[in-house]
Amino acid sequence: MTGEVRRGNMAAAAGPSFWLGNETLKVPVALFVLNRRRLCDRLRQNKDVQKNSVVLLQGGEETQRYCTDTGIVFRQESYFHWTFGVTEAGCFGAVDVDTGRSMLFVPQLPESYAVWMGKIHPPEFFKKKYAVDEVHYVNEISSVLASKKPAVLLTLRGVNTDSGNVSKEASFEGISQFNVNNKILHPEIAECRVIKTDMELEVLRYTNKISSEAHKEVMKAVKAGMKEYEMESLFDMGGEYYCYGSDITCTFPANGKFTPDQRAIYEAVLKSSRAVMKAVRPGVAWPDMHRLADRVHLEELTKIGILKGNVDDMVKVHLGAIFMPHGLGHLLGIDVHDVGGYPEGVERIDLPGLRSLRTARSLEQGMVLTIEPGIYFIDHLLDQALHDPAQSCFINNDVLQRFRGFGGVRIEDDIAVTASGMELLTCVPRTVEEIEAFMAEGQSSAKSFDCLSSQKQ
Ligand code: MN
Repeated sequence: MTGEVRRGNMAAAAGPSFWLGNETLKVPVALFVLNRRRLCDRLRQNKDVQKNSVVLLQGGEETQRYCTDTGIVFRQESYFHWTFGVTEAGCFGAVDVDTGRSMLFVPQLPESYAVWMGKIHPPEFFKKKYAVDEVHYVNEISSVLASKKPAVLLTLRGVNTDSGNVSKEASFEGISQFNVNNKILHPEIAECRVIKTDMELEVLRYTNKISSEAHKEVMKAVKAGMKEYEMESLFDMGGEYYCYGSDITCTFPANGKFTPDQRAIYEAVLKSSRAVMKAVRPGVAWPDMHRLADRVHLEELTKIGILKGNVDDMVKVHLGAIFMPHGLGHLLGIDVHDVGGYPEGVERIDLPGLRSLRTARSLEQGMVLTIEPGIYFIDHLLDQALHDPAQSCFINNDVLQRFRGFGGVRIEDDIAVTASGMELLTCVPRTVEEIEAFMAEGQSSAKSFDCLSSQKQ
């Protein structure tokens, strides 16, 4: 119910908004006005930022498939989206750090655009649409910026710590006449993106709600023998709305009924997921949450009989990473693996499992993360452990044999860190009982999903 109240507040926000019509969420572009204000506030506190500095960002560009004229669906560059919320390609944006005054530069479209693509909007249209202070054409950028006489242009250059790729730094003809600094902006804007505002949280709640529904639809429709693309055709399971993402994993038996072994592994993972959720609050170190999940897995795998011995000793030889080689979770926002996981001063922990973490930060209120523990039976890693006497002494190979080819179980939820704990954004059936009951319901109302099987016949 609180969601309804919050949504009411959003809709009531004054000014223009992004909306896809019907029942979809209205997102006020005031969200980006606030983001720009936060960025300027932060930059003004940075002693390396001179007076009269201007932030300059370049938006994403439209591309084609290889050498053809087939367009690839455009999605805005994430930093540009965070700052301006602009959905069109080929734009630039600037913000005066001292005054907060914002400028958008839009491409001047050829007249032929009006023939094939529709109405060409004047700059005034974009000024209103995106609540910016000025709009000019991209080909005027050099002269417009020169007229502002900025001391320095702050451009974006930095490494994405998940991909290792470098962000695209703004560049235009005539930029050489300006004093440019490409070092300051990246860490500051990434840090702004890590902590979500209430307006951003509202969009993330909505995306999660929609993606949760998608997972439930698939859970109800799935049948043994179905192919993944058939389920993909039903719904978007990792939905994005206005570039804000969600990342959910459900694991369930295709026939709707867990075997005893499936139940045992599933409940081990659910236990670690819920132990982490209980422990999450501001100040908690994320690597400690990973260690907590690992420990629960080892305890449960011992109860199941796959492992034997002292869990503390298993931890010492990093046995948990054999069953969960990936990190416990990651920051989530405009990027599904969101930025800011390793700012200066936060080091990657070079140990099995932990080195895969996309962040080693301590949690803060306003962070949004996934919690996605998993237990997998990966032959390559199991064989490796069996060949290592330090690890193989904990493994009951007889029992383990039963789980060869089992695959794995992952449970992934999205959460927001609150002042005293966390808010769960994902809403899907999670316990074995909930899943089995939900899927049984799906099978009994199978008629509504008959379109799929009738297509196959
Ligand atoms: Mn994920």
